Amino acid sequence: MTATASDAAASDAADAATAAAHFRFFTLEVLRTRRLGHSFLRVTFGGESLAAFRSGGYDQSLSLFLPVGDQEHTELPSTAEDTWFGAWRGMPDEARPVMRSYTVREQRRTGAGEVEVDIDFVLHGDSSPASRWAGRAVTGRRIMAIGPAVAENKSVRFQRPEGTDTVLMYADETALPAAAAILDRLPAGTRVKAWFEVPHPDDRLSLHTLADQEVTWIVREQGAGGPARTERVLSALRAAQLPAEGTPYAWLAGEAGTIRAVRRHLVQERSVDRRAVRFTGYWRLGASEEQLLAEAYAGQAPSEDPASDL
Ligand SMILES: Cc1cc2nc3c(=O)[nH]c(=O)nc-3n(C[C@H](O)[C@H](O)[C@H](O)COP(=O)(O)OP(=O)(O)OC[C@H]3O[C@@H](n4cnc5c(N)ncnc54)[C@H](O)[C@@H]3O)c2cc1C
Repeated sequence: MTATASDAAASDAADAATAAAHFRFFTLEVLRTRRLGHSFLRVTFGGESLAAFRSGGYDQSLSLFLPVGDQEHTELPSTAEDTWFGAWRGMPDEARPVMRSYTVREQRRTGAGEVEVDIDFVLHGDSSPASRWAGRAVTGRRIMAIGPAVAENKSVRFQRPEGTDTVLMYADETALPAAAAILDRLPAGTRVKAWFEVPHPDDRLSLHTLADQEVTWIVREQGAGGPARTERVLSALRAAQLPAEGTPYAWLAGEAGTIRAVRRHLVQERSVDRRAVRFTGYWRLGASEEQLLAEAYAGQAPSEDPASDL
């Protein structure tokens, strides 16, 4: 039950290419933006095509296509859902929209019957396309997305096996929107122990759930990256007592190196059944999503075998 950052990026693309019936193109129009914390910007999208949008909730992800150069709106050649990938890849570099994976934080219907979708972007600097686009998003801008047309689809990765009664969660800021959406859905009586790692104290967003949750916030030290960052997360986990009883399901998402270390800790040091660990690299330190995709397609990404990197 695994995906590295490159697998996740490629899998969203491949899901869309192969399961065309489950996914389709949508035009998302920016309705409004709202700062949620130091690092988070919520962009609320609308648009007629969203009438057919069917989020499966939990950690439902989608692929966004962002404009390049001086384009205001995304321009993609019109193509069928099962052939878009070749058409997109075949576009000249300077015209090819940037593809990025994001989470549907919420889908709702307004009083007027229109569908709105929230996506929470981490703003991590102007030199990265998605972060830059979000930081400059204004009402009326249009982007394209490949997203769910049916609620049961492969881009909902949180799939709690029957018989598990405790949810262990680790998320960094990129996966906090997904973690929050999962918590929204968990029923009363579910025991949740979660570690959420964020860059700034103001990023400790308020979370709503009926579940019985215990959250530990890990606020990253300024400039702490790579191994120091992972070590800090592991220290927090090592210091924690896991519920003595129950059968856990672990959901882990965030920076790929940290995710691997957290998974190893749970499986090797805490004897969590590796088949009950769902882990997804949402990004990798030092690699853009293009690089992750290129690795996945060149077969260089780490194996999907859960035991391979333990
Ligand atoms: C299934 C899935 C769901 C996701 N959901 C969300 C979501 O809801 N919200 C969200 O913000 N992100 C989410 N992400 C992560 C997001 O896709 C990546 O952070 C992506 O790299 C951002 O694109 P970019 O153009 O800003 O940076 P890129 O051009 O891809 O990367 C440029 C550089 O920035 C680094 N980088 C990437 N992200 C970060 C970051 N957050 N902080 C610091 N450095 C970074 C990279 O390592 C690289 O060195 C999700 C990813 C996946 C796979």
